[in-house]
Amino acid sequence: MIKRQPTSVILGAGLSGLSAAYHLKSGYSLFEKESEPGGMARSVYKDGYTFDYDGHLLHFRSEYAFSLINKLVDGNLAPHKRSSWIYSKGSYTRYPFQANFYGLPKDVVKDCLLGIIRARTNLLNGKVDLSGNFENWIRKVFGKGIAEHFMLPYNRKFWTVESADLTCDWLDGFVPVPTLEDTVTGAISTNTKAYGYNSRFWYPVKGGISEVVEGFLRKVNNIHVNKKAVTIDQYRKEIVFEDGTIRRFKRMITTIPMPELLKLLVNLPVHVKKAFAALRYTSIFVVNLGIGKDDITDRHWVYYPEEDMVFYRTGFATNFSLDVAPPGKTSVYIEISYSDRCPLDKEKAVRDTIKALKGLGIISDESEIEICLPMDIKYGYAIYDINRKWAVQVIKDYLQHFGIYSIGRYGSWSYMSMEDVILEGRETAAKLLNRGTCAGCDPIPQGYGARAEFTRKL
Ligand SMILES: Cc1cc2nc3c(=O)[nH]c(=O)nc-3n(C[C@H](O)[C@H](O)[C@H](O)COP(=O)(O)OP(=O)(O)OC[C@H]3O[C@@H](n4cnc5c(N)ncnc54)[C@H](O)[C@@H]3O)c2cc1C
Repeated sequence: MIKRQPTSVILGAGLSGLSAAYHLKSGYSLFEKESEPGGMARSVYKDGYTFDYDGHLLHFRSEYAFSLINKLVDGNLAPHKRSSWIYSKGSYTRYPFQANFYGLPKDVVKDCLLGIIRARTNLLNGKVDLSGNFENWIRKVFGKGIAEHFMLPYNRKFWTVESADLTCDWLDGFVPVPTLEDTVTGAISTNTKAYGYNSRFWYPVKGGISEVVEGFLRKVNNIHVNKKAVTIDQYRKEIVFEDGTIRRFKRMITTIPMPELLKLLVNLPVHVKKAFAALRYTSIFVVNLGIGKDDITDRHWVYYPEEDMVFYRTGFATNFSLDVAPPGKTSVYIEISYSDRCPLDKEKAVRDTIKALKGLGIISDESEIEICLPMDIKYGYAIYDINRKWAVQVIKDYLQHFGIYSIGRYGSWSYMSMEDVILEGRETAAKLLNRGTCAGCDPIPQGYGARAEFTRKL
């Protein structure tokens, strides 16, 4: 039976869909394929542990986003000063690598310093064209030493492709660029200066990141779960759900990952199909561990650039909130990237992870692991290769012609944070309410570092 309700439809109850619904206030129906809302910002509860779908920390650059989330969670947020590190050549150094080589072998320090001095001299002489691929940018801005000892191996592991195959579209201040003086300081002494978009972060005091979702759920109505859209007929403006029901719409906001839309939309023109086919992504395999001891580390997270370590980052969630593990225990998440070009044997990855954690002294014996809860995130990061920009534009333009707005991290196919998608939900709601753009809204950034950081005193 076709229900004739030509209203606004939102597909996907992750933070972008929830924010769009919150800001629309009424006149919408929100459909979610899973049995619960939240998408990537959900938490899983097991035997006294709370695991997020990978570490999820709140970074605020917008006063509006901070006020909104703080209000939604009723003040249940604590600020933290980042303690993030890099483990390389057997030593821990502070993040970011480019401002902290102190403690690394002398020949590495020499390579990095010489490289950055040469690079900066070239920049001063105006010899460098900074357009081009990410590897080019790394080499020109940081020099050969930093490129080869950290930037290139780490980014290869994280993106699963060579930096030469990436554009710089996602950068936008995301990779901190310290002054030469700061780099020299960090080569001869411990440099504690804060850099980058995530030098401060916020996390719920009680519960996991799903507290933000719960906050939205207290304000947002008309959510229908277990409603997986299986066909979107953009011409007839109808959505078919897996349970056989059909819903008509006048305008639609979709937060479904862009590659999935290719399977849902009907009679796509060849050039749009081509655009969909060009989208590439990394997947993230997260190994969540509950460890039966609490004296592991006071670090928040650690990056691992070297190939012999299967993971690119480990995070210690109990250092954001003691509430995420039973007393005297530690919650750890370990992140591993993979993709179609760089497949992963997941069982082996768990074994390799545990072996590496032993080697690092994070656990002394497997018996300390109380819980091992791997989570597989199919769409982790959109790969910013040379095709991404035009492909996303073609798809978005095509959809808007039918009154369909594709938003959110996976609907925009962008490197967006929770704050970013919440702001995009607000902006899109304003468009649907025929207010054009959202008067007074913070602009939606293209990457984490796009706006001046909104900082609060900790
Ligand atoms: C590994 C990782 C770590 C991250 N860490 C951070 C962090 O520390 N800080 C931060 O700010 N951000 C972080 N993010 C980003 C953050 O998770 C996202 O920006 C945000 O949660 C995305 O929300 P969304 O609504 O756009 O997408 P999603 O959360 O993916 O929501 C989309 C929703 O659509 C639903 N859906 C999909 N298909 C259908 C269908 N056919 N029919 C109906 N519903 C459907 C899905 O089930 C889902 O609920 C991280 C992301 C990843 C991958």
